[in-house]
Amino acid sequence: MTSVVTTLAAWRALTADLVAQGATIGLTMTMGALHEGHASLLAAARTSCDVSLATVFVNPLQFGDAADLERYPRSLDADVAMCDAQGALAVLAPEAHEMWPSWPASTPTSVHVAGVTDRFEGEGRPGHFDGVATVVTKLLVATQASRAFFGEKDFQQLCMVRRLASDLALPVEIVGCPIVRDHDGLALSSRNARLTATGHATALALPRALGVASALVAAGATVDAVEAAMHEVAATATGLDLAYAAVVEPATLEPVRDATPGRAVRLLIAGIVEGVRLIDNAPATFGRQR
Ligand code: AMP
Repeated sequence: MTSVVTTLAAWRALTADLVAQGATIGLTMTMGALHEGHASLLAAARTSCDVSLATVFVNPLQFGDAADLERYPRSLDADVAMCDAQGALAVLAPEAHEMWPSWPASTPTSVHVAGVTDRFEGEGRPGHFDGVATVVTKLLVATQASRAFFGEKDFQQLCMVRRLASDLALPVEIVGCPIVRDHDGLALSSRNARLTATGHATALALPRALGVASALVAAGATVDAVEAAMHEVAATATGLDLAYAAVVEPATLEPVRDATPGRAVRLLIAGIVEGVRLIDNAPATFGRQR
């Protein structure tokens, strides 16, 4: 049975013990309200490491908006059951003041990764990535994980964490895992629970736009044409407020302008439906124009 740990001191004791035994630790960091996307990360950790550990922490530092933090779904019992079903040994589920003793006052120390966080979610959610980078650093150090598992769903976050681990030479391998989708194509997200059936149907324009864009990239269309097509698909969905739709370089998220055949890119899209911010992305490779 998965045990639940609520203090950093107990978590450190547990992980130090595991490391002393020579076990490799796979870590999955989450904000709870776990779904099949999280389950895929837990499964990957269980398969590739001796021990799988998880964290469930709705990190207040990464929410710009107090109402969004308040509304974030919380379901610790179900989350622990999911971790148990996926073979996790223990879950760290701390209160906010355990992680950030001065909370709700700000914490003086913060981790900032420049460049890759400047645009897209970084632009739309000021301070968000600093909150993520800071909590990820703290949890990685406290856990001594050999591998940490992140979903490609949050592609910009994954790129930022790779950069962070590399720049600080953290002794951890960052593993990216594919996006898990609903049967209709919507990327699973804890936030989807806040959508009505109509909102869910509207949100499907995001994966639809990615599908259209992928086909255009494969057919060797120009970057402008690909981005315009994503905007067009989004415009057909009443109730979707598009935040961005872009073709970017997959490691740096710098804009791509030339559609050189064979060039691998990432398609990023985000929008707001019924007050819920949704993000999605897909890989694509430019083909030769036919
Ligand atoms: P969150 O609880 O939303 O902070 O997500 C925790 C981890 O689960 C992050 O690494 C996410 O990228 C990953 N994740 C969330 N949704 C999905 C999904 N649909 N497919 C794969 N990974 C996901």
